[in-house]
Order: sequence, then structure tokens, then C-alpha cells
Amino acid sequence: MRPGTAKSKATVSTPLSRFDIQKIKADFPILNEKVNGNRLVYLDNAATSQKPRVVINAILEYYRKTNANIHRGLHKLAEDATRAYEATRTHTAAFIGGVESEEIVFTRGTTESINLVAYTWGEENIHEGDEIVITEMEHHANFVPWYVLAKKKKAVIRRIPITVCGHLDLNDIDNIINPRTKLVAVTHMSNVLGTINPVKELAAKAHARKALILADGAQAAPHMPVNVKDLDVDFYVFSSHKMLGPTGVGVLYGRRELLESMPPFNFGGEMIGEVSFDRVTWADIPHKFEGGTPNIADVVAYHAALSYLDEIGMDNIRRHEMELTEYAIEKLSRIEGIEIQGPQDIPNRGGAISFTDKDLHPHDISTFLDSRGIAIRAGHHCAQPLMRVIGKIATARASLYIYNDEADVDTLYNALVEMRRYFGL
Ligand code: PMP
Repeated sequence: MRPGTAKSKATVSTPLSRFDIQKIKADFPILNEKVNGNRLVYLDNAATSQKPRVVINAILEYYRKTNANIHRGLHKLAEDATRAYEATRTHTAAFIGGVESEEIVFTRGTTESINLVAYTWGEENIHEGDEIVITEMEHHANFVPWYVLAKKKKAVIRRIPITVCGHLDLNDIDNIINPRTKLVAVTHMSNVLGTINPVKELAAKAHARKALILADGAQAAPHMPVNVKDLDVDFYVFSSHKMLGPTGVGVLYGRRELLESMPPFNFGGEMIGEVSFDRVTWADIPHKFEGGTPNIADVVAYHAALSYLDEIGMDNIRRHEMELTEYAIEKLSRIEGIEIQGPQDIPNRGGAISFTDKDLHPHDISTFLDSRGIAIRAGHHCAQPLMRVIGKIATARASLYIYNDEADVDTLYNALVEMRRYFGL
């Protein structure tokens, strides 16, 4: 079945003829909260995004009007809940470039999506001496499952290094991706450096060696148009909670033939074809991978998030974030002692901006900013190997999204200037 572009009823409260930041801000109730007596400036979007009213309401509406278990019920509520759950799948398939809805598996998040591939495809296809290629900038979620699998199977992890500018260094790529390569697992956008990686180019390299490619889209899918067919990836994974949707919902896109050939992940109800004491058969994809009662309410509410993003337009979101990223990098670079990590060329990066202060620990930066109502993240960002490569124990990271504007960046800039003065620097 080819997906339509089924839309949930969620709409941006005022239709946007252009990117109207004040109207968008007004859709997010949490942005009216005060933190430590200040207006909340939320710049921790790479960790999780805030939720618009339509998503919050969708959860309430679901429990008020539709709640039932899906797929097996023969009553109206069960049918409504099933329809709403499956409509999110159809919309997700359309959102990433018009794949088949059966190629979309719901999980708990990016981490679970990657583990699903490692435990099923990986268990069956990775053997002693095989090579799995990752990059030096992977989140632990796209490294640890492959590390564990490689240890178990006596396979080898190869890595694509990064340049001093924070791009992938592809000079030796034809040696790194070679006839022993079985999988290339690469982040589409780095959660630390913001780098957008050449996934399409790497997919061509992987396929030329008859290897598969998995792209971790946790940071890309929320911020830019994604077309998995154009990228020509075999697996693409991302999380609802980083793209205005609820926590506890992840997406695994897998090419039909691959999903069909892979064994199930969770065994139990809902994922079977037929069960007797002597024989068990599996349901068709995607249900084969969705054993047990899924996170129905949050999947249904995720549909409202997708509709909201579509209504604004992923191209517009990307353009807005590029402008704001350029503005933020330019402003932060003016502050003496502050160093931006990662690429500075805006077309090849997103809005996760890591920075360090030559005199202050990132935790102190974060704590000071929190006292001014500004939420950023400080630490290793679940990318400890990358921290070693860039020679830092931690960074501070401000990460942007659709509801951030120049005023938010100015507040960050002023607070950082004040911070350095406060510490006598
Ligand atoms: N990959 C990347 C690039 C991420 O930024 C994150 C979340 N920080 C993950 C994977 C893991 O996502 P989740 O915690 O939603 O499973």
C-alpha cells in the first residue's frame, strides 16, 4: 500500500503564511513558564523538544474519547484507536519521503530501533571477521549496540575519523568501507558538533561493497526534510520526543525485503500469525516487530506533532534554523574565551552548537545559565569517544528549534558575557 498524506486534526493555531515565530512560541505552553524568576529560554532541544498544545491535547483527547487496545478489538473504540495508531504510521511513512507504511516499525525510541536491528539483522548477518563501520561522532546509541555485537561475533569495528573542522574525513573511505564491510552505521546529524553527514554518498559506498547502511536520524528528522529513498539508506531511525512528539515513541524505517527477512525482536501477543503447541508463525511486517501492547496514546499524539511540523514545512524549519544558527555562532564567537566546536559552514550543519570556555567547566556554565532561566546541556552528550577525539572532557551545548529566535540567542549571549564578568574573567 502506498501511503497517502493522512493528516491528524492537529493544526498550528494560526496558519502560517511565513515563519511566524511569535505565533509558534504561543503554541508551546511551557515557554510561558518562569525558571528561577526568569523567562524560560529553552535551548536543550537536542536532548528533547518541547510540545505544542496540539500534542498535549491529543494525549488528553485520546484518553478521554478513544482509549482501547488496538488491532484485536471488535468494538468501536478499539477500531477508532487502531485507525488512529495506524494513521500515524501512514503519516510517518509519508514524512520521510513516501515509503510504504509497512516499512515503518514503532519502537520506544532511536535507541530501541538501533538495538532492534542489531539483535535481529545483526545477529543473523554479522559473522567473525566481518566489519561494521561507524564514525567518530556517533552517539552511544549508534555505537554501543554495534560494539556489543562485534565483541560477541568476533567482528571488527572500523571508524571514519573526523577532520579538525568536525566533518567526516573521507580521504581513506575506500579502505574503511571495503569488501569485509557488512554495515555502515552513521549519524545523519551529530548531536554534539551539529555536522550533517553525507549519508547519500556513504550509502553509495556501502552498497558498492554489498554492505547495508543505517542512518541515525535522531537529530536530522526533527530539523530538515528527510527522504530515505533519495538517501538510499536501508535503515533510518529517529525519536518522536525530539520532534515535538511525546517520549516513548521511536521509528525504525527498514526496506521491506530486509524487514521481511529479519526475525522478530519481542515475542508474545500481537506479533504472531498462528500459535499452536507445536508451531508458531509470525505476523506480517510491521506487526512482527511490535509484540505486546504498544504505546498507543503517544503514537497517536505523535501524529499531531507530524502534522504540526508539516504545516510549518520542514524546508521552512531548516531555513529558520540555518539563519538562527549563523546568528548564534557569529554572536558566541565574539565572546573572548568561548570556542565553538564543530563546523562553521552553515549549509553542512544544524543547530546543535557545542562550545567551551577556556576558563570554566561546562557544568559551571550550565548552572550559571540556569540561574538566568536558560536551559542548555553540559557534559559528554552520550558521545564519550568523540570527546576524546576533540580533546575535551565535556562541552556546553545550546541547541535550537522552531520556537527559538534571535531574542533567545541574545539572552544566551548576554548571560555568557555576564557570567565571565561574574567569575572575574
Ligand atoms: N542518536 C542521536 C544522534 C541522539 O542525539 C540521540 C538522543 N540524544 C539518540 C541517538 C538516542 O535517542 P533516544 O534517547 O530517543 O533513544
